[in-house]
Amino acid sequence: SIPLGYFGGIGNASKHGILVKGGNYLDALRNADTVVFDKTGTLTEGVFNVSGIESFNGYTKEEVINLAALAEAHSNHPIAISIYSYVGNLENNNVEKFEEISGHGVIATISGKRILVGNEKLLKANDIDFEKEELNVPGTVVYVAVENKLAGRIIISDKIKEDSKKAIEELKKLSIKRVIMLTGDNQAVAEKVASMLGVDEYHAQLLPNEKVDILERIKENSKKVVFVGDGINDSPVIASADIGVAMGGLGSDAAIETADVVIMDDKPSKLPVAMRIANSTHNIVI
Ligand code: ADP
Ligand code: MG
Repeated sequence: SIPLGYFGGIGNASKHGILVKGGNYLDALRNADTVVFDKTGTLTEGVFNVSGIESFNGYTKEEVINLAALAEAHSNHPIAISIYSYVGNLENNNVEKFEEISGHGVIATISGKRILVGNEKLLKANDIDFEKEELNVPGTVVYVAVENKLAGRIIISDKIKEDSKKAIEELKKLSIKRVIMLTGDNQAVAEKVASMLGVDEYHAQLLPNEKVDILERIKENSKKVVFVGDGINDSPVIASADIGVAMGGLGSDAAIETADVVIMDDKPSKLPVAMRIANSTHNIVI
């Protein structure tokens, strides 16, 4: 038999826009002592704005941003969307080949030329020389290379969600002892976001499989671990957490399908709400 309190708890959560896929997840939430958040799209809006364009090796800024937009045209990644929405109408449509490499970026062939758009890992994997100059403002750096030569870089920045800080403060008032952030983004951006939000620990420049490895290690030192994410890349981590949580609005179908709990309005502050409901549900059952 299913204790009546579970129905009450799940119903109450749904009134707050939190979909709990079973009473056992309320039990698990009550015992959670660690919360791990993905950064982009989970603690931040996942909506990037182009804040700078630099060009190298004889290319113009206009060429750099236009090539990047064309190469990214078939991607749904938030970074890709920011780049092609910045450009608007794309004139040249000679994209002959397109490949997206998870955690790295994209490779496209445009008018016979091989174009790479992505991070340091993508450049290193293709043996492309690049200068690693410091940025004045922490931003996500997207490099653009043409025929294995660096053509430029685009700096884009995201915004922290309005309620992320409050969400973390609330979690600390409950049973949560450690709040950890995982991201595929660079060290400088991760450090800035972590310190602004009061995250205890963060890991940057991670590939999707590395996120799973870190989560497994975190589980060894915790009672129950909650992971909150949004992207397609996050599905394996959502699956390996004790309680996998997906953002329902921005989240990918795969993440929502895999999750045990779905936050419909994408607000991190709904996690402490779900935990409070889990705690009071327990009292009813007893
Ligand atoms: P996060 O862990 O922050 O949610 P992802 O795992 O989706 O991020 O991506 C990690 C990194 O890989 C991004 O910060 C970016 O540098 C690079 N990247 C991934 N997809 C793309 C893309 N389509 N275009 C450019 N860069 C990309
Ligand atoms: Mg993400």
